[in-house]
Parts: sequence; structure tokens; C-alpha cells
Amino acid sequence: MTKKSLRDLPPQALEGKRALVRVDFNVPLKNGKVTDDTRLRASLPTILYLREKGARVVLLSHFGRPKGGPDPQYSLKQIVSDLEKLLGAPVEFIADPAAGVAVTRRLPRGGVALVENTRFWSGEEKNDPELAKTFAALGDLYVNDAFGSAHRAHASTAAVAHLLKPAVAGFLMEKELQYLGDLLRDPKHPFVAVLGGAKISGKIDVIRSLLPRVDELLIGGAMACTFFRAMGLEVGDSLVEPDRIELAKDLLATSGKKLILPRGGVIALSLERASEHRSVAADAIPKAWAVYDIDAATQHNYRARLLEAKTIFWNGPMGVFETPPFDAGTRAIATALVEAGKKGAVTVVGGGDSVAAVAGMEDQLTHVSTGGGASLEFLEGKELPGVAALEDA
Ligand code: ADP
Ligand code: MG
Repeated sequence: MTKKSLRDLPPQALEGKRALVRVDFNVPLKNGKVTDDTRLRASLPTILYLREKGARVVLLSHFGRPKGGPDPQYSLKQIVSDLEKLLGAPVEFIADPAAGVAVTRRLPRGGVALVENTRFWSGEEKNDPELAKTFAALGDLYVNDAFGSAHRAHASTAAVAHLLKPAVAGFLMEKELQYLGDLLRDPKHPFVAVLGGAKISGKIDVIRSLLPRVDELLIGGAMACTFFRAMGLEVGDSLVEPDRIELAKDLLATSGKKLILPRGGVIALSLERASEHRSVAADAIPKAWAVYDIDAATQHNYRARLLEAKTIFWNGPMGVFETPPFDAGTRAIATALVEAGKKGAVTVVGGGDSVAAVAGMEDQLTHVSTGGGASLEFLEGKELPGVAALEDA
């Protein structure tokens, strides 16, 4: 189901109106300073558009995980000056949403206000209708631009959306729904997915949802070792999920030839002894050694398959990419995605660590999802409460 976007609203729906915008300002902070403002910048298209149309912009976001109430460490006040610099305009801070209505009414056209961390109120994570009413009083219409929070039914993402009309997707949300939605609806073939990371358990539902849709699913990361065990291979001290071996057997038996496993791995005795690494075939992993990356033969094989693809989705690193040289496999996949993109493939990356692994390459990829958990749940085919609450197009 496609959702109505900010773009679909006529000028009179915005002019002079108070737009309550749920953004994701959950940025990393160190000593009260924003160390990475990617998320602030990602919300600019929506905020600037609203300002240009003469709307008054009231921003709502969660920030960190404060425990049971206000905590200065998690106050959004700390990001106000960064936001002002990016906008080139003053930002009014609303410390208490229950007392914020007057501030929002005083805002000039194009003015911007930021409400304190939604998680300072216990009703937020309970999707409490009373708190949602308090939030709703701060706006005349609702815009959700926080795709990364859309898998949670919270007062600021779900309940509030039912109280204001129109309730539409912001530009960032729209982009996520479009690119991720296309993967499920109508991907160009060959469609190749690459899945890696530590555990099968977190990715089972994505594997199940993607298998019927893809032409090939390339497996990497520690996850591959659980599949190796399912095939009866020795994996030494590699990270395995023993309770998922049966499931891996099942997936291998039912996936046809779509599941592609690494040909071999880069192994070491431990991460501390990374310099003593070597490469072995998948059926020659010695006891006491652990696989920390895909080997060169696998990189080569996966690259060749990716270069044939017209659509690629990637989630999860191929190895312990935080510890060189075990980042080589992950880098090789990132490079292959960029190359495939140059040949016309649509390339989409989603996840937490996989997104970190492509930092700096974003503009050479079609779409890098900002929603870690949310993008996976979306691809599992689940309905996200924050999306479901928006009006249909
Ligand atoms: P994402 O956040 O992109 O969804 P995951 O959280 O599922 O990815 O997995 C990332 C983690 O998997 C990384 O911390 C990485 O070190 C770990 N990992 C990948 N391959 C291996 C491996 N062979 N052995 C141990 N850990 C691994
Ligand atoms: Mg992760």
C-alpha cells in the first residue's frame, strides 16, 4: 500500500499551518557535541520544504534510552545549536510539550520549534493515547519522517498519527518506502541479496521473505558457519548457533539452488592473533581455528554474481569487519555493489553495521537505508505501525 506523501498536499494544507514532524534526531553525542550529524541533515529536505511553503514546523524525536523520565544527558536541547546552524534559522525549544501549545501558535511562518525527547514521558513507549493528545495539540497536521522508528508503535509514531489529518510521509520516509517497497513489489531481475552478520536467528524472517523473491542469496559472516555445520562440516571455534542448525538444514533443503555459501574463509586462532590468519576451503576448517571473513575465492565469486544483477540488497557484514584484515570481504562486497551500480543495477543497503561499512560511499549506491531494525522488519513483510498509521495515497 503506498502512503500519502508531503508532496501530495496542496499549498493551502501547509500555508500557515503547524506541521508536527516526527524526525529521527537520535544522533551520537560526545561531551554535549554532535559527532555525526547525518540524521539531522537527512531531515532537512522535509523541514526546508515545509518552511518554504509557509508552514510552522514543530519537530518531535526520541533521543537515546533515558530510563523512566527526564535526564539532562538525553536532553534534545543539546542539539539545538547544531540544528540552528544547519537550518540557518533559530529553533525554539519546547521543554514540556504539555505547555508548548502557546509557543507553537506564536511561531512565525517558516519558524521551527523542537520538542524535548519524547522518551522523557513514560507514555511514549506505551503508545499512550493521552500523551499522543498532548503531542497532537502542537500541530495541525502530522508528517512522519522517522522511518527508523516506524517499526515501533509509540505515541509519537503511531497514536498521534491517528489524531491529526492529514498524516503523511516526509521525504526521507517516502524514499525508504519507495526503495525498500520496490524490492518486495517489483525488483528487476536478476535480484541478488547478500546477507551476512553474526547470527542467523536475527535474519531468519528476512531470509524466508527474500528467498522466493530473489534469484540468488549470497551468505557471508558467521551465519555461514551455522550453514556449514548443517552440511556436516567442521567449523572449529567459529561462531555458530547450535540451536539453529536444524533450521539451516531446512533452509538448504528448500531453497533450491538459491542459497550460495562461501567457498572458504579467512581463519585465525583468535581475533587477538589476527596477524596469523590464513585462508582455507570451507571443508578444511581446522579445529581450534575460527572463520572471521570470507576468503578471496568467495569475494571473487560473489563479485561476479553481483555484476550480473539488476537489483541488489545487502545486509550484514561478511566478516568481523571491525578488525582488519577481516574487513576485506566486506569491502569487496561494497566495491562490487558500486561497480554493479555503475552498470545500471539498483543497489540498496540496510542494517546497522552494514550501513557503517559503506560510510563515505553513500552517493555511489542507490539507497542506504537509515532504518536498521525497521528496514529488516519491512523486508520481512511486516506492517510497521508508524507507516500503517499514515494515510493511504
Ligand atoms: P547489521 O547490523 O548490518 O544487521 P549484524 O548486526 O547482523 O549486521 O552483524 C554484524 C556483526 O557480525 C559485526 O559486529 C561483525 O563483527 C559480526 N560478524 C560477521 N562475521 C563474523 C564472523 N565470521 N565471526 C564473528 N562475528 C562476525
Ligand atoms: Mg548490527
